[in-house]
Amino acid sequence: MSKQYILSFDQGTTSSRSVLYDLSRQQIGMESVALTPIYPNPGWVEHDPYELLNSQIDSARLLLAKFNIAARDILSIGITNQRETTIVWDKLTGKPIYNAIVWQDTRTSEFCQNLIKDGLADVLLEKTGLMVDSYFSATKIHWILQHVPDALQKAKDGELLFGTVDSWLLWNLTNGEVHATDVSNASRTMLFNISSLAWDEGLLNLFEIPATMLPVVKGTADNYGFVKAKLFGSEIPVNAIVGDQQAALFGQLCFKPGEVKNTYGTGCFMLMNTGNKLVRSNAGLISTIAWKIGDTVCYALEGSIFIGGAVIQWLRDELEMLQTAAESEKLAKTVNDTNGVYLVPAFSGLGAPYWNMDARGVLCGLTRGAKRAHIVRAALESIAYQTKDVLNAMIKDSGLLLNTLKVDGGAAENDFLMQFQANVLHASVIRPTQIESTARGAMLLAGVQAQSWSVDELKDMKEDLHMFRSDMDDAKRRQLYAGWKEAVEMTIRNNK
Ligand code: ADP
Repeated sequence: MSKQYILSFDQGTTSSRSVLYDLSRQQIGMESVALTPIYPNPGWVEHDPYELLNSQIDSARLLLAKFNIAARDILSIGITNQRETTIVWDKLTGKPIYNAIVWQDTRTSEFCQNLIKDGLADVLLEKTGLMVDSYFSATKIHWILQHVPDALQKAKDGELLFGTVDSWLLWNLTNGEVHATDVSNASRTMLFNISSLAWDEGLLNLFEIPATMLPVVKGTADNYGFVKAKLFGSEIPVNAIVGDQQAALFGQLCFKPGEVKNTYGTGCFMLMNTGNKLVRSNAGLISTIAWKIGDTVCYALEGSIFIGGAVIQWLRDELEMLQTAAESEKLAKTVNDTNGVYLVPAFSGLGAPYWNMDARGVLCGLTRGAKRAHIVRAALESIAYQTKDVLNAMIKDSGLLLNTLKVDGGAAENDFLMQFQANVLHASVIRPTQIESTARGAMLLAGVQAQSWSVDELKDMKEDLHMFRSDMDDAKRRQLYAGWKEAVEMTIRNNK
């Protein structure tokens, strides 16, 4: 039988998933294996690199067994992954010299502050499109080389390799034959020049990272070698590597400049396609590479919201106002408005476009009439207002107009939230039925490389979706948003 499936590996922060698609791009099934993060110190977050690898392999084996599909029936694999997470391993033994340091880990914050004090923020922004932050890989690699005995010397002697999770998986899946990454992942390391598309020598010197450690940077849809037959029974080509948020942008078919997707998870991640233009932000958004297909590079603006769906978790777990996250929808619909209540969940400061790390949360506008339903509704509305804040910044930075927002992620299941989102944006919110945008993006990219379809064909792809249209009048929208802005002011004022 001819090869008729594409497999996505979606290596995330909380689980490793494998998703199987047929060549009409329909999802056949999915299996996931949960991960156990390691918290050695406050603010530190690690993973066992072998757990990342083995959970990914296990999820694929479970999936193939469940549907009785052999590796020889699989045309291609696309890998998408949690970004920035850093692994350094020994080239000869293949063993990591330290755990994977996860993107959320803040152990290098002080080092980052010192870089800012030394006046390096502008040059780093200019070259990499990023703000100096412990989030990105460079300071994590630096930390490992400085803290693991003999590591720096070994690195200088060419004995160590660095990779984000995609490279670590690929190197192991190809039995150490291919040490590579793609431009979307490289652009999150803070070592990659996003204009010249090359590792930056000056930055490597700054962070004392020998160039011999670095993976080769390839296109997002490209030939990445073969997963060895010993793993699944036959060799399978790897045809795409892409960071998770960029994968979701592709999976949501945001191919044109100005198209935006927002993922409503624990936090929210919004990306806007800016085409072949590297747009610089004046509002603290990140400029990043979305993908490279053939010789064509596509850039994106990215903004993140720290507390998205997490505000609902907080109502459920800390305030015990809800039994389940989904219950928030029913409750919010029992009232017509928030009765003047605003909740700004600045629990760990405010991100774009405010960038105030000292801001703290505010619940305001309370009267004797304020009920649980009003507070729950205000929490949901806060996710939509924060999204509007970031989107406004993107529109200003890019000069591109927006009339639709594509959505995915756990909290995007909430119909009340999506309708309110459409209302405060005065735009249509589009939610596809296939909500696994990340895995889908990796599959679509792998299919491009395997010549199952072209990007042009994908542009015309018909999808099942749910559209939420704005049905609020302008005056009301302006009045509500002005109230939000006042509440945001309070989070900052209260801490002066
Ligand atoms: P992540 O990938 O960040 O783990 P998910 O995409 O699985 O997140 O989304 C989970 C988040 O969405 C949680 O913070 C949860 O509180 C929130 N959430 C899930 N379902 C709903 C819902 N129906 N309404 C509102 N929030 C929800």
